[in-house]
Amino acid sequence: MIDRDRQRGALIGLAVGDALGAPVEFQPPQSFMPVTDFNWGGPFGLEPGQWTDDTSMALALADSMAQSDWDLDDQLRRYLSWYQTGEYSVTGQCFDIGFTTAAALRRFQQVQDARRSGDPAEHSSGNGSIMRLAPVAIRYADLFPDSIDKLAGLAAESSLTTHASPQCLSACRYMALLLVGLIHGIDRRELLDPAWPPLQRLRESEPLHREIEMIVSGSYRDKQPPEIQGSGYVIQCLEAALWAFHDATDFREAVLRAVNLGDDADTTGAVCGQLAGACWGESGIPSTWLQRLGRFDLIESALAGLGVSSAH
Ligand code: MG
Ligand code: MG
Repeated sequence: MIDRDRQRGALIGLAVGDALGAPVEFQPPQSFMPVTDFNWGGPFGLEPGQWTDDTSMALALADSMAQSDWDLDDQLRRYLSWYQTGEYSVTGQCFDIGFTTAAALRRFQQVQDARRSGDPAEHSSGNGSIMRLAPVAIRYADLFPDSIDKLAGLAAESSLTTHASPQCLSACRYMALLLVGLIHGIDRRELLDPAWPPLQRLRESEPLHREIEMIVSGSYRDKQPPEIQGSGYVIQCLEAALWAFHDATDFREAVLRAVNLGDDADTTGAVCGQLAGACWGESGIPSTWLQRLGRFDLIESALAGLGVSSAH
């Protein structure tokens, strides 16, 4: 059954993980005091609780789905609006953007076709599409368990606009299934089992990329840092997020493990935060973080657009 608290948790958790990681983004692991709370600083000099491009892009995607249903060109236009005017940003300006995303936006301005804007090259397999995925899982949670192929198709399309490599598309297909399973209250151990029946159906609709299958098989269970890395590469990012999430006791432990990997800490935090938020719900996120999260009004209006406002 779809759980509204878990739906809301998926997007709020994304923003919380992003905000926790932002102050240590680009710092090598072990080179900073372990993160335990929102802090000042980072490469963009943010205030405690302020979040970055990961959340901005998720808000733009959510807004597009609310206003235009499912329209990839509209999704890219809203990313462009964020990039050019600072809409959806916590500070009112776009202060950071991934290389692959920026290239896709430039290409979109030339070709005006979202399906031809994302770079399909394997070397462009950044984590920029899994970091913003939550709105798709929230809005289309009802496609589980009967229309998993459709859910996975939408998740892949949400990536295609900026990150069109086989690894990125496959990562979004798998992660969307995990998020929606968690939103339905499926036990974490059950859905992380490589033999989980809905996962089998996902593979039947289209095989997962070989590198995603290595994660599905539990690659993260036998590794520790420095083998686990908070990298900008989609495969390592998803692996790191699952490493932090799979045996954590609560939301707080999961996201702190993720951001303390350093490097692309905000994005590892955002990916882990989606999973942990979908697992433990908004009610599982420490209230001190909910209260101090930057521009909660923007997040709340995105949630309302996705049909999960707090008022119900
Ligand atoms: Mg970021
Ligand atoms: Mg990042």
